[in-house]
Order: sequence, then structure tokens, then C-alpha cells
Amino acid sequence: MGEFIDFDDVKRSITLKDLIKGYGFEVKRNNELCCPFHNEKTPSFHIYEDHYHCFGCGEHGDAITFVQKLFNLERKDAAIKINSDFGLGLSTTVNRSPQEIKQIKSEILEKQQQLSFQEKIVHNVEVNISKYIRALNQFKFEYAPKNPYDTVDLRFVEALQKLDEMMYISEKFSECRTINEKLEFMNSVSESIAYVNKRVSQISKADTNKSSVQKKIDANIRKIKQSAKIDHSFEKSAKIKPDKEIG
Ligand SMILES: [Zn+2]
Repeated sequence: MGEFIDFDDVKRSITLKDLIKGYGFEVKRNNELCCPFHNEKTPSFHIYEDHYHCFGCGEHGDAITFVQKLFNLERKDAAIKINSDFGLGLSTTVNRSPQEIKQIKSEILEKQQQLSFQEKIVHNVEVNISKYIRALNQFKFEYAPKNPYDTVDLRFVEALQKLDEMMYISEKFSECRTINEKLEFMNSVSESIAYVNKRVSQISKADTNKSSVQKKIDANIRKIKQSAKIDHSFEKSAKIKPDKEIG
């Protein structure tokens, strides 16, 4: 947890003048001295009750800033140094009440729950994207026009339009290393993700609405189409003009 010190307690415990004198600087009349921070012969460094100001170089601050600048320290370390150098006796350890400990624990728990909630969101999105990619690959194959005069199935068009984008999103997702990176990326493509979520639920609804018998029939039709495509592809491409156009 590290050390802790109240800056105001430090400043209340020693006057700025005593502090500056304590570090060996000679304070002249009217609380003036030669600036410790720039080279000068006549004093332009003025000590006021709660701050100092140098009219020569512009240095300005309070007791803690003075020690910070003098010893090149972080503000907290400067305050701790003052406490120890002048024996101020201020506590630098944190004593927490059981109430505070309980509060801290519940905050940690809340953060963990929040994280696992975010993990779930990210996980759902990733699952939906891969479901959608699978569906698009199926559309691309299953609904491809079998000859140039077929009405183009919209699902085939959808596959052509969306596959590249979805592959890109999926790839980018896998490059993110942390949940935060994933959430950030999700934000940047939020419209696409909203579309994927909507579309996947439509597709799965359409799928569950089909009876198991219908699914078997579909599967058989698919098989037949597949074998027909292989067996007669040469024959089909050999046909130059269909009957429709004659007459
Ligand atoms: Zn100065």
C-alpha cells in the first residue's frame, strides 16, 4: 500500500521560515534571502506565511515544493522527508478501520464483477461473429446462382458483401490482448457489431422455426445440389443458349 502523508498536516507542523532555515539558509531582514535556485548577490527570494516567491527567477511554492525542488523529489517523498528531518512525528502508515477494509473489499469485488460482465459481453460478440461467418460461408455456397438466369438469392449477395468485413473484424479481435483493447475495438466498430448481433438472432430464429423434418429435407436437397454441381458442371457450361431465349 506504500506510505501516506497528509500534506496539510506537514505544512501546519512547521513554518516555511523554520524549514528554510533548518536546511541551512540564512534568512535576512524582512524574510528575504538569496535565492537557493538561482545565483544572486542581493536577496530577491521572499518568504511569506504560506508560500515563497523569487522575484529574480520566478520560483514559487510552499514548504513541500521547496524541499521537492531542493532535493529533486516527488511531492509525497518531499513531505515524508520533512516529517523525518524535522521530527514532526506525523503518521505515514495507513491504519484502516474494519469499516474501511470492508468498503475496499466490496469495491474490489464490484470491479471483478464488472470485469466478468465485460468479459461476457466480449465473449458473446466473438461467438456471434464466428456464427455469422459460418452462416455467410454457408450462404455463399448454398445460395449461389446455379446458372446465370437464376434470380439471385439475397443471402448470396449478403455473403459477398459481408464476408470480408467479418473476417477483418474477427482477425482484429484476435489481435487484441486485453479485455479493454477488445472493448475499445468493439466501440470502433459498434455499428457492425450491432448488425451482427441482430442478424445472428434472425438467422438462428429462422433455423429453429424449421421443423426437424424440414431440416432433413434441406440437407438432402443440399447434397443433391452439390453432386449435381459436380457431375453436370461441364454439361451446363457447354449449353450456350437456354430454351427461354429462343422464340
Ligand atoms: Zn530565484
